[in-house]
Amino acid sequence: MPEGDVVFLAAKRLHRALAGKTLTGCDIRVPRYATVDLSGHRVDEVVPRGKHLLARIGELTIHTHLKMEGVWHVYGADERWRRPAHQARIILRTEDVAAVGFSLGITEVLRRDEEVTAVGHLGPDLLGADWDAAEATRRLCREPHSPIGIALLDQTNLAGIGNIYRSEVCFLSRVHPATPIGAVPELEALTDRAHRVLTQAAHHPPWRAHVYGRYRMPCPRCGANIARENLGDGYGDRSVYYCPRCQPPP
Ligand SMILES: [Zn+2]
Repeated sequence: MPEGDVVFLAAKRLHRALAGKTLTGCDIRVPRYATVDLSGHRVDEVVPRGKHLLARIGELTIHTHLKMEGVWHVYGADERWRRPAHQARIILRTEDVAAVGFSLGITEVLRRDEEVTAVGHLGPDLLGADWDAAEATRRLCREPHSPIGIALLDQTNLAGIGNIYRSEVCFLSRVHPATPIGAVPELEALTDRAHRVLTQAAHHPPWRAHVYGRYRMPCPRCGANIARENLGDGYGDRSVYYCPRCQPPP
């Protein structure tokens, strides 16, 4: 599942392609919004909120979420698409580009003043200008018995982390992912580290993982074999990776 940095970069790319331009075509291939046509309207901006993307067009906002398989591509007006057309959920055209959202998990059109219904539940945005480590820490502490590796995925605590970065943040903080929130030393430092890791990934890609996806490979810190485990978190079969020596179990 794409994480905050991927969405951040997608928003940046879309903003660069569309902001300030007038739409010459708008094709929303979701039954509920199939008749919505924003042609002739000017795109004000495209902004990320956690893993959500908001394209603001006059009074309206197109809210999308990549979920598992989604991706946005920007093409020249006559360029051939690199994904099958039947996967397109939305196509926004200007005179010179076509922005196409493929296999999006959410595609909906809201009034701009209703954006809160889509993103109001989110905790502080790790890549937002208004990032607030203290508030994210306070939210994490609401469930002191919850394992840190699960709580970091809960977007109402802090927004932008997925499976990759939860492993990385725990590794960098030398905390086993199963450690209950209440037993994590220096929780605010960990929260702040999450902010720094995502910021680094978003502003200076490509970024390389220390433990994620490196099962049985040597820990870059101590050389022990990286372990992986499913925390049974109801988020599906997604393993968390850690170093059993640097991150001893709680
Ligand atoms: Zn290690």
